[in-house]
Amino acid sequence: MTAYHMMLQNSRASHPGGRVLEITTTAGCIVRCSYCPQDRFADRQRPVSQAKHLGVQDFKRCLARVPTATGIGFAGYSEPWLHPACTGMVEHAYARGHDVRIFTTLVGMNGSDVRRLQVLQFSAFVVHVPDDGTYMNSRLIGKTYLNVMRRLVEANIPSIRFVVLGNVHPDLADIIPAKMLKRLRPLSSRRGHIDLNIIKPRQPVVGPLTCMGKQQYRNVLLPNGDVTLCCMDFERRHVLGNLLRDEYEDLFEGRTFSEIVDRMNGTDGFLLCRICEFAKPQTSEWCVGADQQS
Ligand code: SF4
Repeated sequence: MTAYHMMLQNSRASHPGGRVLEITTTAGCIVRCSYCPQDRFADRQRPVSQAKHLGVQDFKRCLARVPTATGIGFAGYSEPWLHPACTGMVEHAYARGHDVRIFTTLVGMNGSDVRRLQVLQFSAFVVHVPDDGTYMNSRLIGKTYLNVMRRLVEANIPSIRFVVLGNVHPDLADIIPAKMLKRLRPLSSRRGHIDLNIIKPRQPVVGPLTCMGKQQYRNVLLPNGDVTLCCMDFERRHVLGNLLRDEYEDLFEGRTFSEIVDRMNGTDGFLLCRICEFAKPQTSEWCVGADQQS
């Protein structure tokens, strides 16, 4: 696991109430980081739903079912600001009293978005700064993007952190003060989906295991209302329910979640965690249900 993923995991885990719902605002992402299995998500999502964007009214209906003690993360499986109404969704979650965190590359954001965001308070605001084109689509870095980055740096948002994997894009080097930029080494596999020349996927974990970040309680809302297990479940292998239909508590009381808990405790059956870098084998007698409830 890289420092970047560890840092993201820590940011995600910092919510005192434990539970978080991450919002995937769009199906498909033009940023196309080479370590992100976008195509696999699209391949699995497309047969289920043609919804490219999470509708604002659908977002509000889903959020109305989520207790305010649950944090809301704008991250998920794509760049959140590829949705034109993302800032409005952030404001809505904030106004409801949720703890809100943001993970963005800024692609799709404009100056007005920055003005609206800078008056809010976030427990985390992580900017994934574009690199020199090694792992990200550097053609997105034009005049508009540079202006947004300038405004954001000047906005001085207290919780903001700028991180880059590898070398920062040359046009950004003079905009982001060196002391504000955290340089991390590439790269991790997203659940084993990555160019094997970059990193080898882990060996599957056998027997009982635990998730280091308790991410089975940090779930992901998709544009059609489905909720997947966690930020690593790009392929929708564990869909807990649908917030356009189900209550939030139902996500953790249904058959799918109960099977996940059983399999984390060692029962047979497919479990994404077995090939995930956040999984930790349990060597002594132990039970997920007792230990991992937040
Ligand atoms: S797949 Fe399992 S181990 Fe990996 S982050 Fe998700 S819940 Fe945790």
